[in-house]
Amino acid sequence: MKMPDPDPSILARREEIAGNLRKIVPGEGVILSSQELRVYESDGLTAYRQPPLMAVLPENTEQVSQVLRYCHEEGVKVVPRGSGTSLSGGALPVADAILLCMGKFNQVLEIDYDNRCTVVQPGVTNLGITKSVEGEGFYYAPDPSSQIACSIGGNVAENAGGVHCLKYGLTTNNLLGIEMVLIDGTILRFGGKHLDSAGYDLLGLMTGSEGLLGVVTEVTVRILPKPETARALLLGFPTSEEGGDCVAAIISDGIIPGGMEMMDKPAIQAAEAFVNAGYPLDVEALLIVELDGPQAEVDYLIDRVSDIAEKSGAVT
Ligand SMILES: Cc1cc2nc3c(=O)[nH]c(=O)nc-3n(C[C@H](O)[C@H](O)[C@H](O)COP(=O)(O)OP(=O)(O)OC[C@H]3O[C@@H](n4cnc5c(N)ncnc54)[C@H](O)[C@@H]3O)c2cc1C
Repeated sequence: MKMPDPDPSILARREEIAGNLRKIVPGEGVILSSQELRVYESDGLTAYRQPPLMAVLPENTEQVSQVLRYCHEEGVKVVPRGSGTSLSGGALPVADAILLCMGKFNQVLEIDYDNRCTVVQPGVTNLGITKSVEGEGFYYAPDPSSQIACSIGGNVAENAGGVHCLKYGLTTNNLLGIEMVLIDGTILRFGGKHLDSAGYDLLGLMTGSEGLLGVVTEVTVRILPKPETARALLLGFPTSEEGGDCVAAIISDGIIPGGMEMMDKPAIQAAEAFVNAGYPLDVEALLIVELDGPQAEVDYLIDRVSDIAEKSGAVT
């Protein structure tokens, strides 16, 4: 991919810009050396690589505000970055832009079990939120496969979701409030510790905006009590169409599984060769249906889904 041509006047002012940003983020907060910038030259979409003008690692909201205001006034572009796992090139640097890395915003600020929410800095990992509350039997529901590494700030910017989102929603359905900074340095707060704040849905606007509208500096999300139990059904079908029909039949029966994923034959073979999970290799499609909730409800749903699967042509 051809990256945009950089503005030569910005490249020529690199040292001056770095000097001014170091006054805002002192110490090792501004990275200029080409060796150190190598780790920032791409995100999860590794086919594209481009070192940024420099990387800036602020430690608090006031520094973010001053960095953005300076860049805005000086005409310097800014690309925010969380953990850099985006597969859409969202955190891909540009040669004449600073990369604003939010990794130092890594603290859980408050856990409010009474209101079932937690307030965290944007660099906290998705799994880190669950880890911080699981001792009390709670968890954070949206679970992208990258949850061990991706940041909650990146989740907000990409509206990330995972296998449990059919029942529990994407980031947008679990986000209660944010603090964010506009490109002119203005610090704003939307939402709070409750769903559906009055007024325009500015949280919804920010969710999925890929860092283009501002930099998120604090996030409040819902936490949920862990389900009493969870069980999974592994269903094999002679054709992918029958597997797909089974999905439609489960949903049209009014059942919302905690998770539901389908693999076709090449995916089954690849997964089995890698993890030796014991998947049947003689079917064309596998459907994994996870049911969670109170024990009695899960027992009932397991029977119900088994019946539906049999009628849809399941062979295992
Ligand atoms: C192996 C793998 C599996 C994945 N599985 C899933 C999955 O199941 N579901 C899913 O939805 N995604 C998945 N992803 C994609 C990715 O992990 C998510 O999009 C995640 O939300 C990105 O978070 P991040 O912290 O890495 O953000 P980055 O990659 O650093 O940035 C992503 C975007 O967010 C912006 N951004 C980051 N932090 C902030 C901030 N504080 N304020 C404003 N903007 C910000 C960036 O500018 C960029 O546009 C996967 C990626 C990998 C590599």
